[in-house]
Amino acid sequence: MIDDCIFCKIVDGQIPCTKLYEDDNLLAFEDIHPIAPTHFLVIPKEHIPTLDDVEERHAQLLGDMLYVSAQLAQQKGLGASGYRQVINCRESAGQVVFHLHMHVIGGRKMDKMG
Ligand code: AMP
Ligand code: ZN
Repeated sequence: MIDDCIFCKIVDGQIPCTKLYEDDNLLAFEDIHPIAPTHFLVIPKEHIPTLDDVEERHAQLLGDMLYVSAQLAQQKGLGASGYRQVINCRESAGQVVFHLHMHVIGGRKMDKMG
């Protein structure tokens, strides 16, 4: 738990969220400023600042984030139309919250990445 981290505060229950999924290691909740009809975040409960701070011991956690994100996307009815997962790493990618998180975005047509 990092005192000035907004996502640690969500994990700790100090800041509310619209929770979609929780287990011992992960939390998923709706993004507060959605950029698509479906936009939620999957985060580890452990404070990991960026993707670059991931260690070998986190490999299962990363796999679980991807798996849970796909399960939730399908539960939201995006299985047929499709959806996108994004992890922004540091400033050039647009990372604003420095607690690792995976965006899951869907419900509209998206541009090719480029
Ligand atoms: P990034 O630019 O990858 O760091 O994305 C951070 C995301 O966190 C943005 O999409 C924000 O809308 C979202 N966000 C920030 N604060 C909250 C919050 N309190 N609850 C839910 N989502 C949040
Ligand atoms: Zn944190």
